[in-house]
Amino acid sequence: MKHVHTPMMEQYLNIKNKHKDALLFYRMGDFYELFFEDAIIASEALDIALTKRGKSNGNDIPMCGVPFHSADNYLPKLIKKGFNVAVCEQTETPEEAKHNPKKGPLKREVVRIISPGTLTEDNLLQRKNNNYLAAISNFNDSICVAWLDISTGSFKSRLIGKDNTSNQKQLLTNFLLRMDCSEILISEDMDLDFIGNEWHSLIKKQSPTLFHYQSCLNQIFSHYSIISLEGVGSFNKGEIIAAGVLLSYLKLTQCGKTPFLSMIKSETMNEFLDIDYFTQKSLEIFKNLSGKYEGSLISCIDETKTASGARLLKQRIIEPFRSINIIKDKYELVNWILENDINIKKNQTSLQNIPDLERSLSRISLFRGGPKDLLSISKGLTIIKDIYENLILIRQKTSMPKLLNSILDSLNIDYNLFLNIKKAFKLDATQIVKEGGFIKDGFNKELDYLRSLVNNELNQVIQLQKKYSEQTNINSLKIKHNRMLGYHIEVRAMHDKSIRDTGLFIHRQTTAQTSRFTTNELIDVENQILNSFDDSIKIELEIFNNFANQIANKGKEILNVVHAISELDISFMVANQALSRNYSCPNISNEKKLEIIGGRHPVVEHQMRMSENEFVSNDCKLNNDNFIWLITGPNMAGKSTYLRQNALIVIMAQAGLFVPAKKANIGLFDKIFSRVGASDDLAKGQSTFMIEMIETSLILNTSTEKSLVILDEIGRGTSTFDGLAIAWSVLEYLHENIKPITLFATHYHELTSLKETLKKLSCHKMSVKEWNNSIIFMHKILDGEADKSYGIHVAKLAGIPLVVTENASKILSKLNKKSNQTVKNPEKDVDIVNAKEVNNFLDEFDKIDVDDISPRQSLDLLYELKLKRQKNGKSKFKK
Ligand code: ADP
Repeated sequence: MKHVHTPMMEQYLNIKNKHKDALLFYRMGDFYELFFEDAIIASEALDIALTKRGKSNGNDIPMCGVPFHSADNYLPKLIKKGFNVAVCEQTETPEEAKHNPKKGPLKREVVRIISPGTLTEDNLLQRKNNNYLAAISNFNDSICVAWLDISTGSFKSRLIGKDNTSNQKQLLTNFLLRMDCSEILISEDMDLDFIGNEWHSLIKKQSPTLFHYQSCLNQIFSHYSIISLEGVGSFNKGEIIAAGVLLSYLKLTQCGKTPFLSMIKSETMNEFLDIDYFTQKSLEIFKNLSGKYEGSLISCIDETKTASGARLLKQRIIEPFRSINIIKDKYELVNWILENDINIKKNQTSLQNIPDLERSLSRISLFRGGPKDLLSISKGLTIIKDIYENLILIRQKTSMPKLLNSILDSLNIDYNLFLNIKKAFKLDATQIVKEGGFIKDGFNKELDYLRSLVNNELNQVIQLQKKYSEQTNINSLKIKHNRMLGYHIEVRAMHDKSIRDTGLFIHRQTTAQTSRFTTNELIDVENQILNSFDDSIKIELEIFNNFANQIANKGKEILNVVHAISELDISFMVANQALSRNYSCPNISNEKKLEIIGGRHPVVEHQMRMSENEFVSNDCKLNNDNFIWLITGPNMAGKSTYLRQNALIVIMAQAGLFVPAKKANIGLFDKIFSRVGASDDLAKGQSTFMIEMIETSLILNTSTEKSLVILDEIGRGTSTFDGLAIAWSVLEYLHENIKPITLFATHYHELTSLKETLKKLSCHKMSVKEWNNSIIFMHKILDGEADKSYGIHVAKLAGIPLVVTENASKILSKLNKKSNQTVKNPEKDVDIVNAKEVNNFLDEFDKIDVDDISPRQSLDLLYELKLKRQKNGKSKFKK
């Protein structure tokens, strides 16, 4: 049976049919309405009322709606939850509809599909983050990805792995996690296994027909109006496919409008220092361990002044360079700024005032921009022109580094267009084009004339009011304007009769308080006003479109300028940090070394400086003759801080930044791995240990002699001897087989005996001093090994009752005696009986969460442990 719907509902269903994958925002008057399943989903996701409207097949049609003017408050919620939203607007005015022979509801069309990876509005985006849309292809056993950010125009592609290599999937997941993509396109027939469950909500499956090589290549050709990719770069077929799929998706979601994209660039992983996602997490690069921005490396070092500079810095930290020349160019520019006493503060103040040019440009290219975007571009480029001209003056007096010369080449453009925009637009122009009023008086003669007409006509209205008031003797007679009636004469209701009696006025409306009239004279003036106003808006629109087109045509030049200025922004930031934070220029080479003098942890130092405490700097000296440092010391002594600071210094150095150290000699690294043992998560169970081992296996399988490996308490997530044995053999494997520069922190003192057999391993300790039966952490790394476990002292400091810590000391000395007799090398001579006993005991002991135990509970625990040993006939403790 055919469903009978109203014409409007028929129209809705036709449009919805074409956009099944998106929530359809159907414009009706001042509201966007959602119907059927969409209404149920959206009302739940937005927490708004679900109502009903009409019937379908005898059943109520569910409906919900959001006001048009506050749609911006609701859209982000839906986008964040991974939905696509198809925005359907009225594309015909009631006036136009009168001339349309086809009767029915006003014409409506989907003008745009908003999806998480295709956002352009500032309120939906984060200023300092890119918003990536990625596509993955699996072609001829190679996995490739292409990714772009339409809000900034960047577009890149990369081969992830060839020939079904075993770690291909791992590499892909790592890439997606690291880039923090917002939306991922894959073919419907692709296996989802390789992307963790938590990321599945970002995936949008596409028809496999889109993944056809030739049609993807054609997409690229037609987007860039080119006929060959020669000269653009060398691409794998899979990269072309992924890129083509992205372009098709953009066509679909932008409803035919093409955003400005810089030329697609093929990258290889070899160009970058590979920092996998787990390392990114463990080193707290973008978020601290609790997932917050504060306390992360980026929060501490990002002192860029422009939004594009902040995004470039983030990109450099996600994937630092692996080319000595590129890195040295960056250093050279910063050193030039410092040596030539360039006014850093002045330049940074100018940079600070540059608006987000990339995002304005993207909106303009998608016909979504407004006068404010043009003004922002003009304002930003006028500031850039001043920066450029100042630097050119300096170039006349002194020679400049290579990178600065190429920056100046990019800045050497014709700025007239931007100056003209500044002359044309009012400073307080808004984003709304259709209401006009944004062009300055004096810019366009015709516009000025029309505006003067409007003014004259408005004056005529005032004259008419005066005339009618005198004619009728009604002082309170007013000529007013509203949307319904336009211009009209208004008198109080008591004058109704007397005014009608004059025979001059045409009645329009009566309300409780007032009577409204018009005259033929007033209608004529009103028509003149409307005509002049419409004409003036047409001229303003023409001016706007003309400038917008010119800006869009200059897109490539503008993006080059933005990139150059972001580079300059970072350079001034680094120069400033050399002075304000005492960061220094690293020395980078191809040798195998990590030699740092006076190194500091950038984040801990920054936090301590704010609380006016002194961070203790530390050295490290690892090279081909001594590439593994085994570090022992009690908890809280500063081991993790030390390990991480060295890794962060390497990342900053390879990102072309100066580093928190007196001196840093760094041999270029290919990969960095950092893993923290699972001991802290012991309560979460065996799975944490499993994860720890999976991650360790990734290091052993993929690190190379040129990698930096940071292992903090690896093996601690399992029972003592298992953990010790694992740590032991991991160290041996690294030393004998892979030979990467390694920093290994452990509380297994037994491991220090490895220095006898592993010649390139040396032992170091975090120094502590005992004082008054307590300990002081010196936070200083020294040669040698820590000879005592200070755990009990630390427990005392943490407020564990004396009776508990004293008993623990006794237990420890007994255990030490036993284990000294037995535990030398876990591979040989382990006294199985003793080992098991000690092991069980330590297991029990490890389960105690010292931070979450009352004095009473600790006493009970001690009695319990004692009782167990009595049962085994082993206790020699006295009550
Ligand atoms: P561990 O890994 O040995 O348990 P951490 O590295 O977590 O120790 O350090 C414990 C605390 O000591 C840190 O939170 C920090 O406040 C402080 N600390 C660490 N290293 C230093 C240092 N070099 N100078 C000053 N304080 C430090």
